[in-house]
Amino acid sequence: MPKKYVYFFSKEKTDGTRDLKDLLGGKGANLAEMCNLGLPIPPGFTLSSEVCELFYENDNQCPSEVVREVDENLRELEKTNGKKLGDPDDPLLVSVRSGAAISMPGMMDTVLNLGLNDQSVKGLARQSRDARFATDSYRRFIQMFGDVVLGIPHGKFEEILDYVKTEADIRFDVDLSVDQLRNIIERYKKLIREETGDHFPQDPQDQLWKSIHAVFGSWNNERAIKYRQMNKIEGLRGTAVNIQTMVFGNLGKDSGTGVTFSRNPSTGENRYYGEYLINAQGEDVVAGIRDPKDIAELEKDNPVIYRELLHYKKILEEHYKDMQDMEFTIQRGTLYFLQTRTGKRTAPAAIKIAIDMLEEGLINREEAVMRVAPDQLDQLLHPAIDPDQEYSVLARGLPASPGAAVGRIVFSAQAAEQQAGKGEQVILVRKETSPEDIGGMDAAQGILTSTGGMTSHAAVVARGMGKCCVVGCQQMVIRDSSHCEISGKTYREGDYLTLDGTKGEVIDGQLKLKTPEISDDFQKFIHIINETKDMGVRTNADTPKDSAVARKFGAEGIGLCRTEHMFFEGDRIDAVREMILSADTRGREKALAKILPMQVEDFEGIFKAMDGLPVTIRLLDPPLHEFLPHQDSEIEELARTMHVDPRRLQEKVNSLKELNPMLGHRGCRLAITYPEIARMQTRAIIEAALKAQNEGIRVFPEIMIPLTGTETEFNYLKKIIEEEIQGIFDRGKTDIEYKIGTMIEIPRACLVADRIAAAAEFFSFGTNDLTQMTFGYSRDDAGVFLPDYISKGILPRDPFQVLDTEGVGKLVKIALEKGRGQNPHLKVGICGEHGGEPASVEFCYQAGMDYVSCSPYRVPIAKLAAAQARIKKQR
Ligand code: ADP
Ligand code: MG
Ligand code: MG
Repeated sequence: MPKKYVYFFSKEKTDGTRDLKDLLGGKGANLAEMCNLGLPIPPGFTLSSEVCELFYENDNQCPSEVVREVDENLRELEKTNGKKLGDPDDPLLVSVRSGAAISMPGMMDTVLNLGLNDQSVKGLARQSRDARFATDSYRRFIQMFGDVVLGIPHGKFEEILDYVKTEADIRFDVDLSVDQLRNIIERYKKLIREETGDHFPQDPQDQLWKSIHAVFGSWNNERAIKYRQMNKIEGLRGTAVNIQTMVFGNLGKDSGTGVTFSRNPSTGENRYYGEYLINAQGEDVVAGIRDPKDIAELEKDNPVIYRELLHYKKILEEHYKDMQDMEFTIQRGTLYFLQTRTGKRTAPAAIKIAIDMLEEGLINREEAVMRVAPDQLDQLLHPAIDPDQEYSVLARGLPASPGAAVGRIVFSAQAAEQQAGKGEQVILVRKETSPEDIGGMDAAQGILTSTGGMTSHAAVVARGMGKCCVVGCQQMVIRDSSHCEISGKTYREGDYLTLDGTKGEVIDGQLKLKTPEISDDFQKFIHIINETKDMGVRTNADTPKDSAVARKFGAEGIGLCRTEHMFFEGDRIDAVREMILSADTRGREKALAKILPMQVEDFEGIFKAMDGLPVTIRLLDPPLHEFLPHQDSEIEELARTMHVDPRRLQEKVNSLKELNPMLGHRGCRLAITYPEIARMQTRAIIEAALKAQNEGIRVFPEIMIPLTGTETEFNYLKKIIEEEIQGIFDRGKTDIEYKIGTMIEIPRACLVADRIAAAAEFFSFGTNDLTQMTFGYSRDDAGVFLPDYISKGILPRDPFQVLDTEGVGKLVKIALEKGRGQNPHLKVGICGEHGGEPASVEFCYQAGMDYVSCSPYRVPIAKLAAAQARIKKQR
């Protein structure tokens, strides 16, 4: 069969169906489908997206086969309508509409009323018995053609329109007379001559082909490329072009146009929703030129059409089994549909519609699960800026942690804690944050930093806390500890700011926020997800409080408890510093003995919060200098409180400094130098577990060694840990089940995973470090160049956000295979930031992991992603 490039659609003859989206684009495929369903659709034809490909291959021209098919289809269309394109007495008019397989709103405008020229406009006037309508249609056509096809700025046409209106002292377009419209048309034509050196094309064939080429050409304009990048739209051939018979909503009071949704897209309520305008053309509704009316009013204005609309919306919803977004036009009392597509919706609406449609029997459970995008759930779990307010954005940064926050500016963690202690709501504003800021971050409503990327300290910690955070706000400069400038405006401590961490926006002043409600539908939805998924979802939590929050969100254990965070709380840091500054093992052991009871208390609280669930605790990971002060004044003060010579302290601080701390003395390397630290932590874990168990709590401790690169490191530390545990058991004559495993975050560990698995009982992929070391990108510095990498297409996306399945993922797979090959019972999970990112969760599922672990607030998101991954695999 010869190849087909053009697809006809009409009541009598339709070549396409909705399954041909790739070829016909969403708009074209659905127009065909609606014809097949018997809806009233103005007939037309679609040039497939393959033609778009050919257009580019063929030097921006359509090959002759395509030209021939368009001619044939145009003749067919003329026959169907009983009108001819360009006929001076009764012209066929068409629209030229773009439409790719995935909708890209705003990428390319539509050309309406094509086929009008100086002659046919007269014919249209006679046929419609409305000279004003005909002239205005011609004016609109020239304007759209000039803008969309000829690339003349829209504003220049508007200037002319405004000029004539002002001259005639007229406020609304509708009041322009025929003569005034003609005047405008002449001026438009002159503008086109001046701008392009050519006349406005009078030949409809010429108009048609120029428009088709413009639509194809727009596929690769900067705006469209950027849009596809931003929305991760990949692998499309191009756009299709729809040529469709015009219908007119601007032919008087019995005409009109509207956009409606089969259900409310913001609440999900099952009620017909939308707006319409009497005596208007489609674009007027979208353009917001006049105030549209609520669709419910049409029931009074025109009950017959209203009932018809309800009838067709029902057909469409039952057919597509999803909420539809529909465009319609009424031409002198006759209804036409111009478009239908799956309607965009808010998160609460997505949940409600999924549950309602399930209960109505329209979709099954699996479809209900697939209906909600995992990332959308974020909206449901955090406060948001109340949308009923007007505000302007002061500056933008990266949307590091979702939600919204309002408070007074503070510039230090201490000030945050002090002010919050007085009941004040504060926003912590910093260049960047570091581990010692934890307390202040916890006390603040939100966090704003001027530097750093999506995996900076501030971003990771804020996400873990479920706290609104905007990082890398380059329009902000912090001048000193009392004021900063944001977009050139000065802000002092105590001034109000509002943050939107979902969008990465900084807003001046104090906006109203809306707290999310957990609806019954949401609970039902979560219940279905839990029954669907078969991979575990744990959480990364460091405190009993976070653990409790995570459990409320449905966490099935802890995948990563970072013990170092506990070291900063309250006056513990003193004991930690004493330990670090000790000259010998004895001194360190003395200091560690002070930390021990505090760690026991923390772990006990965590075991209690996670009663019956596994808890993975990682031994100390960061380099020791992170616990020491760095400024001279701070060092002097510490020396005073510790009764040591400030110069000696300074020397010690200097000696711990590393050129490349991320690759330095950290992780298991610390424990190999100072086994007493690992011993103390092991003891704290096991003693806490025993205590909890004595109180009737079911405990499953898992001790995790960080940064293992060789099996000898692992074996050496495992022996120390086991000795320590055995000692406790012997003394107390008790016993408890536990596991010892390791993080896999060094490429070498992946490659020798079989050897490590010979002794390890579990692996947990630390994909933050693994990404950093696989790419060789320091994650603290990558924020500088990654944006260029992404905008220039060197990388499709930030690998610290979405797991790089090709490279890092390959290492993960190698490690899994080798590990499980050696030890079939090896438990495997992921605890990097990727564990809460839907695409990465899907990868983990396919790779065969037992669980993912993510920050508490992302647990529902990861669960939904896990459920969807399972459904996709089964399909
Ligand atoms: P978008 O992708 O921006 O929605 P459309 O192709 O749907 O662009 O067209 C823009 C507007 O023009 C819509 O309001 C649509 O209903 C209207 N429109 C498009 N084609 C026709 C037509 N043949 N008759 C009447 N109105 C049309
Ligand atoms: Mg549209
Ligand atoms: Mg790590």
